[in-house]
Amino acid sequence: MDRSPRQIKILGRAWHLRFVSGGEFQMEKQLGECDHPSARNKSIRIANDIDGELLMDTVIHEMTHAAFPMIGEDWVEQFATDVARVVTSLGYARMEDDKEKAEHSSSGTGTVDAKTQDVV
Ligand SMILES: [Zn+2]
Repeated sequence: MDRSPRQIKILGRAWHLRFVSGGEFQMEKQLGECDHPSARNKSIRIANDIDGELLMDTVIHEMTHAAFPMIGEDWVEQFATDVARVVTSLGYARMEDDKEKAEHSSSGTGTVDAKTQDVV
């Protein structure tokens, strides 16, 4: 998949979307973070070592924060997880590299347990 930096628009505002290593986050075990919509040169940072449903959950989560900064963390977390689960069930979250992992794995999906890491 293409993890090169890019500019995205959320409700008409421009954000930089970047994939970063875990060490670049403010807190340990963080999968994503986003600047407040009022910030200059704002960005959304996503962990560069996740994929599949967890990646989709994290991107939706941070985009929801960007769009609705007044919404609380619990609501954002549940909403993003709900959307990612439904969209994944429709077949959209599976990347080529996930398919390879699944083919070589005898049990489960081979994905990281989303609940062991915090999405903030
Ligand atoms: Zn959050």
